[in-house]
Formats: sequence, structure tokens, C-alpha cells
Amino acid sequence: MEELLRRSEKLTTVGQLAAGVAHEIRNPLTTLRGFLQFQQQRNVLNLNHTDIMLSELDRINLIVSEFLILAKPQAVHFQKKDVRFILGDVISLLDSQANMVNIHFDTFFTQERCVIECEENHLKQVFINISKNAFEAMPSGGTIQLRIEIWNETYVRVQIIDQGHGIPAENIPMLGQPFYTDKETGTGLGLMVSQRIIHNHKGTLEITSVVNEGTTVTILLPVSPEGETEPSNGLIDI
Ligand code: ADP
Ligand code: MG
Repeated sequence: MEELLRRSEKLTTVGQLAAGVAHEIRNPLTTLRGFLQFQQQRNVLNLNHTDIMLSELDRINLIVSEFLILAKPQAVHFQKKDVRFILGDVISLLDSQANMVNIHFDTFFTQERCVIECEENHLKQVFINISKNAFEAMPSGGTIQLRIEIWNETYVRVQIIDQGHGIPAENIPMLGQPFYTDKETGTGLGLMVSQRIIHNHKGTLEITSVVNEGTTVTILLPVSPEGETEPSNGLIDI
């Protein structure tokens, strides 16, 4: 009964979100339709318009793909894995992109095992979303510290610490609310999706920030009892 209740609650929230996503997609669709109609009526190809149309299409694509990870119907498959390897894979994926914008990762990985029960691809998505926010907060580059350690013997603690522009205190409560963004091309879905994924892992995600100094994202994930672990799959497959 409880399980059923939880399932139906989950469906309602995903349903509500879907309504929000539909709304967000309607805006760029309206723009696209307007420009297409203009070009059809005048029988001209306006390159400025096609640029805007392409970026509106990209925006639709981004919104849909960020949302899809939550809406995917197949069962989530949890496995015992070491978070150090999962974060390591994400760093290799983002490192060259980071170097191009003058951002460097400074890592501290504990020597202790950091095994948790997780859905690896979902967790990678969380680390990617948070690292991307850190990149975007440091337009002139800087260092992102990544720390993994065992916390109180019961949690794996992951911290992503940037030196970006920070978040004013009054905006902290908005973080994680769907579609909250201060970026021109942001979706406002990254943190909401990340929080939900961490919640599904029975963990917590906390953000602290000092304006003009930087932002720290702290994730706690419950350590899994000893046992065989699966190797990380190395690939991003979402
Ligand atoms: P998006 O990145 O599309 O705006 P997110 O959900 O990832 O959506 O983030 C929501 C908002 O939270 C961002 O627009 C930004 O205002 C704020 N934010 C998140 N992470 C950071 C960070 N590391 N530094 C500064 N602001 C941040
Ligand atoms: Mg983001």
C-alpha cells in the first residue's frame, strides 16, 4: 500500500513536471512557427531567422533531454559501485572541455573504499550537471575542487567547490525549483533533476555559497555494507 502510494505520488510529481516542461517547450515552438510562417509568406530565407530557429530547436532538445532522465519508464537498476571511479570517469569526460575555458580540477580522493548502491548513469548526470554550473559561474576560469571522503563512517561525502560568482542568500531557497534559472539559455532543470536523483539514492544535496567567492555543493550518499562491487562502466549512457 505504502509502495503504491509512493508510486502514485511519484507519478503525480512527474506529471506536474511534464506540464511545466510542455509549457517551457511551447515558447520556443511559438517562435519557430512565427519565423517559419514569415519566411513562407515572403518566400525568403532569412539567415538571422534561421539562426534563431536553430537555437530555439537546441533549446527544446536540451529541455527534453534534461527532463527525460527522470521520465524514463524503465526500472532503475542499483548496483554496488565505488563513487571514486564514477567521479573519475566524469572528470576525464569534462577535463578537456574545462581546460578550453581555463578551468582546472583539483581533486582530493580518499584512499578508503567509497562503495554505495547506485544507478551509475544517473549519478554521473548529477556530477555533470553540478560541474557545468560551476563552469558557468566562472566565465574567466579558475579551479574546481572535487573532494570525496568517508563522512561519519556512514556516508560518502562528495564536494564540488567552485570559485565562481556565487549565489545571493535570497536566491538559495529557489535552487532546485523546476525552471528556476538566471541564465539566458538555462533550463532551470539541472539542480532539480540532481536533487531528485540524490534523493532516490537516499542521500542529500546541499548548497552553500558566498557571493564573489564561490559555491560549495555537498552530496552525502549512504555507504553500502561490505560486498562485491561492480566495475564502473566507463561510458556515459543516458
Ligand atoms: P541552469 O543551469 O539551467 O540555470 P540549474 O538548475 O542547473 O539550471 O541551476 C539553477 C540556478 O542555480 C542557476 O541558474 C544559477 O542561478 C544557480 N546556480 C547553480 N549552481 C551555481 C553555481 N555553482 N554558482 C552560481 N550559481 C549557481
Ligand atoms: Mg545547470
